[in-house]
Amino acid sequence: MDLTPARHAISGLVPREVWVPASAEAVAEAVRECAAARETLAPWGGGVALPHERAPDRCERALVLGALDAMVSYEPDDFTLTAQCGVTIAELRETLRARGQELPLEAPGEERATLGGVLAANASGARRLRFGAPRDRILGARFVTGDGVLARTGGRVVKNVAGHAVHRLLVGSEGALGVFVEASLKLLPLPPSRAALTHGADDALLGDAARWSAFPRRECAVLTVLGPRAAPSYTVPGAPFTIFTGFEDDAARVADGVRFCEGALGASRARRDGHDVPPLWRELAQLEEREGTRLTFTSAHRTPDAIAFLAGHAVAETLVFHAAHGRLHLWPAPQDAPALLALAASHGFTPIAARGVALSPRPSSGATRALRVRISDALDPARVFALGDRWRER
Ligand SMILES: Cc1cc2nc3c(=O)[nH]c(=O)nc-3n(C[C@H](O)[C@H](O)[C@H](O)COP(=O)(O)OP(=O)(O)OC[C@H]3O[C@@H](n4cnc5c(N)ncnc54)[C@H](O)[C@@H]3O)c2cc1C
Repeated sequence: MDLTPARHAISGLVPREVWVPASAEAVAEAVRECAAARETLAPWGGGVALPHERAPDRCERALVLGALDAMVSYEPDDFTLTAQCGVTIAELRETLRARGQELPLEAPGEERATLGGVLAANASGARRLRFGAPRDRILGARFVTGDGVLARTGGRVVKNVAGHAVHRLLVGSEGALGVFVEASLKLLPLPPSRAALTHGADDALLGDAARWSAFPRRECAVLTVLGPRAAPSYTVPGAPFTIFTGFEDDAARVADGVRFCEGALGASRARRDGHDVPPLWRELAQLEEREGTRLTFTSAHRTPDAIAFLAGHAVAETLVFHAAHGRLHLWPAPQDAPALLALAASHGFTPIAARGVALSPRPSSGATRALRVRISDALDPARVFALGDRWRER
């Protein structure tokens, strides 16, 4: 692990110091020390996403959670697990796979991405609609507030109704409200059967709404569209778009899904089954970390025809659209971003994240902003978290 400050810059903003606490108590101590010095810090997981995010106004310290990587308890019979938040997603996956279980999340760079980072971003991959996001899987957590209190929220078991679900509030708070040190999660059994189909699509097929209309009822685990240069090694050569469709269930339902899909789209160009399928979902998650100016949108659209308006646009070359849950990633030339934002908005796509260009603040109501400030006042009264401004302004 390279612990130099230069390796912990956020879009060029280099912290003065890098701290690597070895225990939850040491995390609390570090936050208290930072608050007392009236300085700010950013929690760091594996650093997959953070170096590319918009720099805050100041950040004197990087708080690296990598040393907190222990598995605290694993109860396969109850489908629950508690782990420290510096553990990597890849390590969790291997532990669970040995018992025929999974935490159904894919993150870019999963060999480095940590549980804490994925929880803080509420990040998940192409299977989000079918299997849920981190906020759906968390049961409880230990975390450190901005005034350095080591707190516990929720529990370690599924049936737990005590207190407010602060752990769910912290999921997606992007290191702005607290530092996750430990989390309890509910797991799933590995699906008995999986299949992934690859189809090429031209503009006409992509835009054929009638053909896609039955897909949402089929509950595909994945329905993802790639532009021809999104990932050359597995897009269909010569096709303007490549479609990946995934089914995960008992064998009869998977076979039924495959029949339906090939009936609607024709014979597939490639098919993967069983253990060969999850690596493909991880490769799709990895595409999100492509270099360059990136715009990420959410939408209520659930079928590929929703992006037909991009056919012929330069940005279609590298697009990634997880149609099952309406998440679109585009990598425009920086000067094209404003026009693209307007075009996408006119087709029902709302920007939720950007790299390399500034998004105008979301038009959240005054009441929402006031609530964010009150939450932040309660959890981070000294404003020690460097990324707090960004969260409060959203
Ligand atoms: C706003 C945002 C939204 C994202 N949405 C998605 C998505 O939907 N799907 C997807 O696949 N990927 C998404 N990502 C990428 C996602 O961050 C990475 O997949 C994953 O978080 C990387 O893990 P990491 O450990 O490398 O985190 P880092 O890159 O180190 O940090 C990511 C964020 O998490 C915070 N953080 C890290 N560890 C902790 C901790 N222990 N406690 C509190 N905060 C912590 C950081 O301060 C930072 O804000 C998103 C990233 C961001 C910043």
